[in-house]
Parts: sequence; C-alpha cells; structure tokens
Amino acid sequence: MFDKTFQNELSEFLQELHDQGLYKQERILEGPQSSVIEVSGKKVLNFCANNYLGLSNHPEVIAASAKTMQEWGFGLSSVRFICGTQTIHKQLENRLSTYLGMEDTLLFSSCFDANAAVFDPLLDERDAIVSDALNHASIIDGVRLCKAKRFRYAHSDMEELRLCLEDAKSSRRRLIVTDGVFSMDGDIAKLGEICDLAEAYNALVLVDDSHATGYIGETGRGSIEHCGVGHRIDIITTTFGKALGGASGGCISGKKEIIELLRQRARPYLFSNTLAPAIVGGTLQVLDMVEKENPYRKKTMQNAHLFRKMMTASGFDLVPGDTAIVPVMLYDEKKAVAMADALLEEGIYVIGFSFPVVPKGQARIRVQLSALHTTEDIEAAVQAFIRVRG
Ligand SMILES: *Cc1c(COP(=O)(O)O)cnc(C)c1O
Repeated sequence: MFDKTFQNELSEFLQELHDQGLYKQERILEGPQSSVIEVSGKKVLNFCANNYLGLSNHPEVIAASAKTMQEWGFGLSSVRFICGTQTIHKQLENRLSTYLGMEDTLLFSSCFDANAAVFDPLLDERDAIVSDALNHASIIDGVRLCKAKRFRYAHSDMEELRLCLEDAKSSRRRLIVTDGVFSMDGDIAKLGEICDLAEAYNALVLVDDSHATGYIGETGRGSIEHCGVGHRIDIITTTFGKALGGASGGCISGKKEIIELLRQRARPYLFSNTLAPAIVGGTLQVLDMVEKENPYRKKTMQNAHLFRKMMTASGFDLVPGDTAIVPVMLYDEKKAVAMADALLEEGIYVIGFSFPVVPKGQARIRVQLSALHTTEDIEAAVQAFIRVRG
C-alpha cells in the first residue's frame, strides 16, 4: 500500500534532489524539433538536440512516414516472431546491414533495448566483458543483465584496456564494448588501437555508434568509418533516434550467426512490440537521403568547425574533438547551470551538465551543432556566450 510513510520518504528524497540542484526540469517545446524552437512562448536557437543532420522534421521524411503508415497501418499489436514482421521490417534490416557494412541486422524500439538485448544471449559466467568507463547507461545496464565477468578501463586508456584483457585471459570469450562517440566529451573511441588489442587477445569488439551513425566519417557511416575499421568490428548497436531522423528505434548489426542467435534469444526482441510502420518508413527515407550522397553531414561538420574556431578565438576552454558535440568547460557546477540559464535568457538553448552526469569539478555546457544552423545562428550563439561570461 502506498502509505503516508512511503509518500513522505519519496517527498523528502525529491526535496533533496531540489536542494542539491540535481532535479531535472523538463522544458516544454511548443512546436516541432528544429534549430529554432519555441519554449515558454519565446523563440530560441536550439543547440542541445541530437538532430545532427537536421532531419527530425524534414518534409520528405514526414511524407514517407505518413505514406508508410497509410499503407502498412498504425501498429502491429505483436512482437516480431508472432505476427509483427512485415516486408518493410525486412527491407529496413537489409538496408541497415548494407549501410553499416554488416551481415545482418535486428530492429529494436530503441538502442537502449538493443543494448539490453545484446550481451546475455552471447556471454555467460565463463566469459568476460571489458567496458570503457564512460560508456552509455544502456550499455552498463545491458552488461548487468548478463552473467559474464565485468572489467572496466579508464576512458580510452589503452594500457588499462590491455591489462583488463590480460586479466580476462582465462575466460572462454572476451568482448570489448565501447561507445563510438562519447556523448559528454564528444570524442571518438580509439577504435584502431582497440581492434589491435582485440586481435592480440582474441576478443570480440562491439561499438555503440549512436552519436555517430549518419554523420561521422567520410560518408557518415560512423566512427567505424572514421577509424577505418569496418571489417574488424563484430557487432554494432545504434539508434535511429539521433542523426537518422530522431524518432525512435535502434538496431544490432553484425555477423550472421550472432544476429541469428539474438533473433532466437534476445529478450527485448522476443517480448517487446515490433517497430511501428511509420518509424520504419521514415527511417528508410532517411537512409535514401544519406546513403549515396550525404550533403547534410558536410554542413554539420562545417558548423561544428566554425563554432569551435570562434569559441576558441574568444578564449573559451573547449574539449578538443572532431564531432558536432562541443563541450564548453566551466569546471564549476553552479557556474555551468547559471550560464546555461543566462544563455536561454539570451535566446540560446543549451544545457549545463554537472555531477553525476560528468565527474565532480568537470561541469560544462554541451553545445551540439546541426546541419540546420546557419552561420548567423552560430555567430549569435558565440556572441551570447561572450555576453553572459561577464
Ligand atoms: C542515445 C544513446 C542510446 C540510447 O538510444 P535510444 O534509441 O534513444 O534508446 C544508446 N547508446 C548511446 C551511446 C547513446 O548515445
């Protein structure tokens, strides 16, 4: 029973979150996702969406999604293996396999689900998972659902990774798992070195490329393309909820036998509903738009470079990198939050991140660039940063 005691305990805990400045207020957008959004009746420039390619509200994506819904229905009311697999689901899986350069692909409602699904059927107590300390929460949770031994190396520390692999030598199978692009620092995993170590220690490599698929690398195929290691990666997980249109959905892509086994055994695949036709149709359209030529990614990267250049010239302390995630370091928790608030007043929507999302004393404002931003938008953002710096 939800009694007074439990109610009071929850209220106290929520109050503590408020007191510590850890309570998350959701800002309400009064229209679609874009580079200009309406928040509390005010138009602001948006620099905190994962809308890297600017396709979240693209008319061709909306049209394809609507058409697919008309043709294939609103929903399937089924999981994939009972009566939830349509022609378009197989089509999307095949398209993703080709796009990502893998043998086969499995769809999920989200990449969070894909990461919850991927470990347990492949590994048990005889095996070992070696994970970067800054990996995404969904990887951490997915690893928890699996009985394999866990090893964690300091972020991108290749010597620690080697030591972990050394410790895991007696395990039957070893799997290294890493984000392709890390969301808080915007840096790219050292996939070349990771693959070298994987070969030396006979380990599998899994890359979660959620923050990279669609815009990192020469044709936008992700960190794997950027690092030139396509043929050396065994499993990719990624999302359609960021650069690829931003609705929802994700996948696991990889070697044929791995995907075949996961189709039989992955619990979020077996026991959760199939991806809605509208999402499948929209995502297929996005792939049409980025597969051959990807004009959007050039703009995204140009914008990121321009913002970095102008901010550095204005004396701001940025985490160096080559992605559209640009962390502006402030170190001080309160300063980061106050600065983000002041920027919103100036019409620039960014978020300050502090502990526990980033380590103590590493507070920052994370700026994310999109292909939709104009040069004027970027100049306006830099000018606002200069004004609120005081
Ligand atoms: C965003 C993200 C996810 C979650 O993706 P969803 O499809 O929104 O569930 C998983 N992994 C990484 C690395 C991410 O950045």
